[in-house]
Amino acid sequence: MNAQPVKVPFLDLKAHHEPIRDEVLRAIERVMDTNAFAGGPFVEAFEKDWAAYCGSRHAIGVGSGTDALWLSLLALGVGPGDEVITVPATFMATAEAVSFCGARPVFVDIDPVTYTMDPARLERAITHRTRAIVPVHLFGQVADMDPILDIARRHGIPVVEDACQVHGATYKGRRAGTFGVAGCFSFYPGKNLGAFGEAGAVVTDDAELASRIRCLRDHGQARKYHHDHIGWNARMDGIQGAVLQIKLRRLDAANEARRAHARRYAGLLAGLEDVVLPVEAPGRTHVYHVYAVRVPKRDEVLNRLNRRGIACGIHYPVPIHRQKAYEFLGLGEGSFPVAEQCAREFLSLPMYPELRPDQVELVATELRACLAELRSETHACAV
Ligand SMILES: *Cc1c(COP(=O)(O)O)cnc(C)c1O
Repeated sequence: MNAQPVKVPFLDLKAHHEPIRDEVLRAIERVMDTNAFAGGPFVEAFEKDWAAYCGSRHAIGVGSGTDALWLSLLALGVGPGDEVITVPATFMATAEAVSFCGARPVFVDIDPVTYTMDPARLERAITHRTRAIVPVHLFGQVADMDPILDIARRHGIPVVEDACQVHGATYKGRRAGTFGVAGCFSFYPGKNLGAFGEAGAVVTDDAELASRIRCLRDHGQARKYHHDHIGWNARMDGIQGAVLQIKLRRLDAANEARRAHARRYAGLLAGLEDVVLPVEAPGRTHVYHVYAVRVPKRDEVLNRLNRRGIACGIHYPVPIHRQKAYEFLGLGEGSFPVAEQCAREFLSLPMYPELRPDQVELVATELRACLAELRSETHACAV
């Protein structure tokens, strides 16, 4: 079959931004008129709104989600010789933040249903060197925080949440990012709340931690040109603050739209024995940053869907402990079997607020067709 033009894109930021075009352009003009380009009043205004939205005392705008994770760990004193526990099923940035503190990432396998840190495996990974625990709220769902916080509290280890994929998601009625001592967000354009470039934030209730992160993001200076610490330039741009403040007002509606698409997908794909659908665990609201199903022969399914005009993704094809960059940890195949199997089977279907119901239906129909083709080919081979 010849490849068809894209009928359902994986993401459509153009459609997402069209309704706010004029509002955003006016806000960018205000930034231009006031020269508030790096940090400044637009960032501060967004920080206030973001802290209030999350239900946190402080928000600190930074340059990216990677900065948010790195500076949070640095501010907690993580350094050379330390270990930080996280999961292998995440984006590279989680582990990089640990490594850029000079510490060593230690992995705990994920739960096969929610794809987040398996609390039953956490305690075994703790040593006298453990300085922080970083659960990752993957795909739009918060990890099982109660048992994780319990174990962390018993050992006196701070929890830093990688909340880069869960803007607005809740766990037992509370918003993501507010469970640990710090919650780290990314506003990369494709995230549920995305900037017009790179941006991130840390939320925390701890005033001292907040001021340490504020200091570190601005070259370690509490006062201009007086540097108490060696920091970095990890400030948020004024334009990003201005744009994010506008987009935040539409986050809840956008998340609701994603949830409606997820319900539609679930209805249309129910009963397919070779597809594992995402599960919203009790007491949690999933915001479907990524709608990941699991299928056998994933790469073949992905290619066939692409040829039929359905754009899909893989989040992520290689677990962190199997990345070349982390070869030195010596963690071979079989070290984290759940994460490894998921990496072989994950297939991310198109998911964004502006997706139309007929597009969701088309994706489901084409996925069913691809799987049926592959089943019949397997049978033909077996005869
Ligand atoms: C996007 C993401 C990051 C990194 O955020 P950036 O803003 O791209 O630096 C970290 N962790 C997870 C789980 C992410 O999805």
